[in-house]
Amino acid sequence: MGNRILIVDDAAFMRMMIKETLSKNGFDGLKLCFVNTITSVTTATSVTNALGGNNNPYGTIVATGYANAPLSPRVLGHEFGHACGLRDIYVSNTTHKVTGEIEKARMPWDWGGGFYPLGLMQADLIKQLLMYGWVEEGAGTDIPTSTIYGVWYEWVNRQRDWKLDLAPVGLDSMNRQPNHQ
Ligand SMILES: [Zn+2]
Repeated sequence: MGNRILIVDDAAFMRMMIKETLSKNGFDGLKLCFVNTITSVTTATSVTNALGGNNNPYGTIVATGYANAPLSPRVLGHEFGHACGLRDIYVSNTTHKVTGEIEKARMPWDWGGGFYPLGLMQADLIKQLLMYGWVEEGAGTDIPTSTIYGVWYEWVNRQRDWKLDLAPVGLDSMNRQPNHQ
């Protein structure tokens, strides 16, 4: 199967999530599903968030009716970044917070050249990145050469293992042609 574009409603999205309509897409191509809204329920804390997009082993879903930010090229690019192996980066979560200015150790292969001005706060740099994990006004589309210091997580035993260190959000962390894993 090659690339596919599906236009589905939320009920179809739910069916997809429980594997009734689509199989796992680890072999080739991309699945891109358009839905009106996406609601993420964090079962551990019962927190509910609206999302602009989601990438999972069965495909990429983007929301066209997300009230805070309608579907944008940035959301599509961000989700395809995940399909290439990149991770979300954040400024803070409940246990970690980025403070202070940019420095070489925080952007080891993107330091210099004057693209980011001296004195820029690291948190403001993070919001300029394509892999910044929130959809909000002013969020950027930069893809750095390599890792950037920030808050990020890996899945460990189906739990988010939060970190405050160099996050794989740059070109050298793209570990595959885009597909869903
Ligand atoms: Zn993301």
